[in-house]
Amino acid sequence: MKTIAILNQKGGSGKTTISINMTEALRRQGKNVVLVDSDPQGSARDWAAAAEECPFPVVGIDRPTIDRDIKAITDRDFIIIDGAPQIANLAASAIKAADIVLIPVQPSGLDVWATADMVDIIKQRIEITEGNLKAAFVINRVIKNTKIGNEILTVIADYGLPVLETVIHQRVAYASTISEGQTIFQGSHLDAIKEMNDVINEVLSL
Ligand code: ADP
Ligand code: MG
Repeated sequence: MKTIAILNQKGGSGKTTISINMTEALRRQGKNVVLVDSDPQGSARDWAAAAEECPFPVVGIDRPTIDRDIKAITDRDFIIIDGAPQIANLAASAIKAADIVLIPVQPSGLDVWATADMVDIIKQRIEITEGNLKAAFVINRVIKNTKIGNEILTVIADYGLPVLETVIHQRVAYASTISEGQTIFQGSHLDAIKEMNDVINEVLSL
């Protein structure tokens, strides 16, 4: 069993969008999955409620006991944790629960700098676990046909965590499918599907 936490205290970085689509991507690879909604706002639960038929279970654990509470989940290949938009205890317990932390950031220094406190906690945890915890940034909402500027890669490099080579592009399909209680896997969003699968391959090889 592997636990992947999608975390960034900044709202709007794409945590919920990526969590839902990543969970579905893993399910379509034949994995047994569950999505843990750690956001008290319950966005992933709202999405599940809007779905005609939710393809996987979505459970809410929005108290800072995630690391203890998920021990009750024993029958899954993957637990995906959709992070909450504030640091404090919730993020700390999600980091404790995780084998892998993925930090989505938009391609702007402002978004990267906002992760500083959380990156510190992640690095402490990497030390405590003697490197068993893996963590990486993924750049989200990249405008098609634009290159990620060296400035932003330099800013990220300062944080000492890797950044995925795969980027997630700004796509109408991400927003429109979620709004309909669906995922990018419904419909012919082949480019989006490919990048989500590429993200997973990279994450699992960290
Ligand atoms: P968070 O959970 O971090 O607050 P969300 O997943 O709710 O972020 O995303 C915030 C907004 O940005 C939503 O309206 C979502 O549809 C949109 N969004 C996120 N990622 C993308 C993307 N790659 N392409 C287009 N829209 C996106
Ligand atoms: Mg969210």
